[in-house]
Amino acid sequence: MKSQEWINKTEDYVLHTYNRFPVVFERGSGCRLYDADGKEYLDFSAGIAVNALGYGNEKYTAALKDQIDQLTHISNLFYNEPLAEAAEKLVKASGLSKAFFTNSGTEAIEGAIKAARKYAWTKNGSSGGRSDLIAMEHSFHGRSLGALSVTGTKSYRDPFEPLVPGVKFAKFNDIDSVKELVDEKTCAIILEAVQGEGGIIPAEEAFLREVRRICDENDIVLIMDEIQCGMGRTGFWFAWQKYGVKPDIMTAAKALGGGVPVGAFVLNEKLAQSSLVPGDHGTTYGGNPFVCAAVKAVFDVFEEEDLVGHVKETALYLEQKLDELVSEYVFLSGRRGIGFMQGLVFDGVKASDAASAALKEGLVVITAGGNVLRLVPPLVIRKDEIDEMCAKLSKALETCCKIG
Ligand code: PLP
Repeated sequence: MKSQEWINKTEDYVLHTYNRFPVVFERGSGCRLYDADGKEYLDFSAGIAVNALGYGNEKYTAALKDQIDQLTHISNLFYNEPLAEAAEKLVKASGLSKAFFTNSGTEAIEGAIKAARKYAWTKNGSSGGRSDLIAMEHSFHGRSLGALSVTGTKSYRDPFEPLVPGVKFAKFNDIDSVKELVDEKTCAIILEAVQGEGGIIPAEEAFLREVRRICDENDIVLIMDEIQCGMGRTGFWFAWQKYGVKPDIMTAAKALGGGVPVGAFVLNEKLAQSSLVPGDHGTTYGGNPFVCAAVKAVFDVFEEEDLVGHVKETALYLEQKLDELVSEYVFLSGRRGIGFMQGLVFDGVKASDAASAALKEGLVVITAGGNVLRLVPPLVIRKDEIDEMCAKLSKALETCCKIG
């Protein structure tokens, strides 16, 4: 069956909640993808910042196959070895205290909110009424009702109101707007150190430090969402480590499982000691041996190949090449981002047109909010592949000149 037939069948049977690019991917190798018609693509999207190891990493796939042969699922009523190993890796990389594994990023956010609420409840009692949340404009935390409640795009939220009450939105990187919202009912502040879906917007260091100070002063829980910007993408295990601002709760997902659906929220010692206890939270699949074997394998490959160091070093080259494109095309008004999480800001031309044109050139790139072309390649991407990306993107941008 060729691509068009798969597309037709998908549209016949799958609920239409995505406007998909008309490409059917069949297999991957390294940083390359191949469609059902055999066309090759260079991938600078990594399944939206998921496939950190690229495709077909031998160590990773061998670990998954081994685990399938042994045991894929056992309930959380029992212990399993990969769970202990994955949690140890995540806790040690983050310097936090205890991890809870979920099935997605969204569920990690749900768990983080519940842990923050439970902490406030434990400390102040239900009569204390400390349950409000401060989130950021342009943030993205997921689509379930809790995660959506703290997502900073009104059009995503509106059709599903009423959502969780007591959520207020501050302006990202505007500390006064945060201070204005903090009161005795504030339970937690949630933010991304580098906003992803919102348009690849890094936090300013002074802003993050001041948010941390406000949280400390008022015993407010700081939740940092590392689902997109975490796991090496910024040249640090977690983006907050670049800023030296440590959260009370961190969420992770996407690259954490290298393509297997898994997320996590990780608590510091204070929260671990006085928030969720047996009976408060649970999940059937979360932390099962299969996904945890994937998490462990991801960490092993990161460590053996020093992927965090590779990103730190190679990202400078990526930034330089992207800056060259910005100086070449008038409709590119700037570049922003950290490490392998980069955005080209479009002005007067649609970034989505550039993404479509790039696809025709055999390059997979995606967009983000604010008319931004988002580049979140596998973390194993090499300099010669960055050159190839720029050549393909240049061709695509020439097409945009004509459209524009
Ligand atoms: N938080 C951030 C920062 C994200 O980028 C995403 C997804 O894009 C989510 C949360 C939701 O994660 P998931 O799609 O795995 O539920």
